[in-house]
Amino acid sequence: MMGIRYTGPYAEQVAEHEGQAARKLTDGTVSTGWTEETSALEAFIAACSCGWRAAAEHPATEAGKEAAEAQWNTEHLSPLIEAARSSWESWPDDLAGLARYARDRVLAQDNAEALRILDQMVADVDYRRRTVAQLSGQQERGAQE
Ligand SMILES: [Zn+2]
Repeated sequence: MMGIRYTGPYAEQVAEHEGQAARKLTDGTVSTGWTEETSALEAFIAACSCGWRAAAEHPATEAGKEAAEAQWNTEHLSPLIEAARSSWESWPDDLAGLARYARDRVLAQDNAEALRILDQMVADVDYRRRTVAQLSGQQERGAQE
């Protein structure tokens, strides 16, 4: 599928979302693949690889295709990025909760479970570190312009 991918700082968090102007054909079917049936094209509909699909239909023109892609961006992708951004708010509490749980497991000599939680924490911190590195790079590029 030749869809649209977000490549900004939160790309990892929205990796499974690839936008597309799906093609509604005159027989009523909606095609997200790239077939040769363009003559039967009736409308473009904003769609995502995760299964999300807009209700609105856009004209079967290049402008309609762009409008469908823009709709995917504003109605579907933007809220996902906003959710990823706002997950920072609860993150310290989430992490502290995991730390307390890991401590309890160690004290209870349940080291296997403690290790599992610590691995999860390391992966989470690593993931967020990559995001911040992306944000940092974006700021540097912005400053140069
Ligand atoms: Zn999606």
